[in-house]
Amino acid sequence: MLEKLEEVKRNIQREIKSITALKDAEQLKIKYLGRKGIIHDFMKLIPSLPAEQRAAIGQRINSLKAEVTHTVEELSLKAEVTHTVEELIKKFSGEATSKAKHEVFDITLPGKRPLVGKKHPLTQTIDDIKEVFARLGFDVVYGPEVESEYYNFEALNIPADHPSRTDFDTFYIKNDILLRSQTSTVQIRVMEKQKPPIRIIAPGRVYRPDTVDARHSFMFHQVEGLLVDEGVSFADLRGVLNQFIKTYFGQDVQMRFRPSFFPFTEPSAEVDISCSLCKGSGCSVCSYSGWVEILGAGMVDPNVFKSVHYDAEKYTGFAFGMGVERITMLKYGINDIRLFYENDIRFLSQF
Ligand SMILES: [Zn+2]
Repeated sequence: MLEKLEEVKRNIQREIKSITALKDAEQLKIKYLGRKGIIHDFMKLIPSLPAEQRAAIGQRINSLKAEVTHTVEELSLKAEVTHTVEELIKKFSGEATSKAKHEVFDITLPGKRPLVGKKHPLTQTIDDIKEVFARLGFDVVYGPEVESEYYNFEALNIPADHPSRTDFDTFYIKNDILLRSQTSTVQIRVMEKQKPPIRIIAPGRVYRPDTVDARHSFMFHQVEGLLVDEGVSFADLRGVLNQFIKTYFGQDVQMRFRPSFFPFTEPSAEVDISCSLCKGSGCSVCSYSGWVEILGAGMVDPNVFKSVHYDAEKYTGFAFGMGVERITMLKYGINDIRLFYENDIRFLSQF
């Protein structure tokens, strides 16, 4: 019996040496330790042995079992690592080889840049405007785009018979509810809630039923400005606008005021800047005048103060409103307002 076991041991050692793959090790385990394995057969014989031999034989069998188990475990661990590394090498070299068959890899080619999104030019302009006025101490406020006739017209001193209140000039939703035609509505909402001093700008969308062409759109953006305090004069208005224009368009840009009329300001002015394209010598953008209109402004009409219960004897203020599209078009020399809304990446990526 002991001799037979010695023989088994030699066989095992010989077989272990010839193992090259994990599956051979597993087969070895089944062959010797399996339910019908060789060692199991020996164990079945133990009860029939003389009592004095049982212990020695049992011990020998156990050590054989341990040897096989240990060897197989060690081999499978090693095989697993090798297997993983080999698989990886095979996978990637295989991929590279199959790709290389189809393409020529040129390491001098520039890499592919990831596409990074950016702000729409109108958003950029609004941000620039906000930044300039923030430095002058103006807060940014927003108001609703769906407004009542009161905020859009009456409170702004635009009477019921004013032409801008007709169906041709305003999007009515129902009776006295409409899409705001100007951001001046925000002035009233702020003054109703707050006492002077007031220093705000209000950016946002406005709506007018205009036929869309190179210069018009049914929707565009405005930035409204309002400053109310004691002793505010027209010179302050001029100073603030001058500061904005020089910062936004450049130090060499000239500004001029032309008398105008708005229902909610008195006196009122249209503000022009020297044409940045022709530097004042005359071109098609400035209709050969050397000047382009960029905004409307004026001193707040006492009737507007009356509607928000401000003392017009004590307080004065100025307001201004500018078209964001127009300012962006002038700054970058864009000749068609529709380009802003077409979502053409070739246009938008230039800003
Ligand atoms: Zn010009």
